[in-house]
Amino acid sequence: MSAPIRAVASAFSIYGEFLGAAPYGAGHINDTYCAEFCQGGTAVRYILQRINDKVFKHPAALMENIQRVTLHIAAKAAAEVDPSRRGLTLILARDGRCWHQDNSGNFWRAYIFIEKARTLQTVDSESQAYEAARAFGRFQHWLADLPAPQPDGYADHMGIHEQKQPGLFHVGIPVPLGVVQAEQLRAIAGLAMEAGADVRLTKQQNAILANVPEARVEGVVETLAEIGFPVDANPLRAAAIACTGEPHCNFSVTETKSRMDGLVQMLEARFGPTIDGLRLHLDGCPHACAHHWVGDLGFQGTTVRDAEGKRHQAYDVFLRGSLDRPAAIARPVFKRVPSEELDAAVSGLVAGWVGARAADETFRSFCDRSTDDELGRLAGREPARTRQKETA
Ligand code: SF4
Repeated sequence: MSAPIRAVASAFSIYGEFLGAAPYGAGHINDTYCAEFCQGGTAVRYILQRINDKVFKHPAALMENIQRVTLHIAAKAAAEVDPSRRGLTLILARDGRCWHQDNSGNFWRAYIFIEKARTLQTVDSESQAYEAARAFGRFQHWLADLPAPQPDGYADHMGIHEQKQPGLFHVGIPVPLGVVQAEQLRAIAGLAMEAGADVRLTKQQNAILANVPEARVEGVVETLAEIGFPVDANPLRAAAIACTGEPHCNFSVTETKSRMDGLVQMLEARFGPTIDGLRLHLDGCPHACAHHWVGDLGFQGTTVRDAEGKRHQAYDVFLRGSLDRPAAIARPVFKRVPSEELDAAVSGLVAGWVGARAADETFRSFCDRSTDDELGRLAGREPARTRQKETA
């Protein structure tokens, strides 16, 4: 074991005499080793890890992210007692990169071993849970101002588009609510086989037929319409995402796909194609499988009590989130909106945007330039006050 690890360790900027190495820890994704060196008569330990590139498909990009995070935390912790124990310290490879690729193509990284630190596989006391939560909270706090690259922006791939490969097209298949029946799946598979195309799935719970020869495009579009997926459906149908939720997920406290269906039908009936580009994301709980914090209108399932104390389904309404530039995490602007009052609130907000928007102004931009009180008047609801405002 020691000989191959010695060779890997020699690729990193670790000095001193190699004393030995052994597998370390109980992780089951990467291969982890603890290597010991004699540095000026003192034994110093390092962690060497072979990155599992079946799990982490882009090890170099992963390591660049880790380097950004660890350097940011090191700067934050510099003023604290014993700063090197507050976060991981990456050891650079001798070629200056933050990883090393060995002759077999394996990717490796190296960290300083934090002596007397312990990793718990399970928490068995309240104080351990407290310390874990405190450490995680501090980690999040330190990262809150980490300058991050912007995401690429929103791409829905819907419609019919020419590919860069001559004579080939891709056809976006809007799948309302991400629900597809077995017969529809078979029909799509059949279409793909006949046309020599590929089927791909999108983050918005839609599908794409890629590599469709030009001569087959018209037939493909006709068949998609026949099986219930017209490619010219209102874009709202492709952009609305609801999590699996009730009745399939135990975490859900509200309807999800069926509630979203109601919202989409209401908006289609009232606004037709004028709300192209509006994105709705709805989740049945805070786990956010449908990413309610990056929709134009995000909904998180919750409950509300009536005057008799009986619980009813309700939603927190999140606004000002987006994956488009500048990307932003939405905040709950309206809390515990009863399910039966949700249509009116959403309709009011969308009507306010449609009636007042500047040319091409997105719903998110409209919300950005509106105050919570202005949005509250459109929604017919009192906006939630931030804690700071409540105590002011
Ligand atoms: S967001 Fe919550 S309710 Fe919806 S699928 Fe995820 S865990 Fe289940």
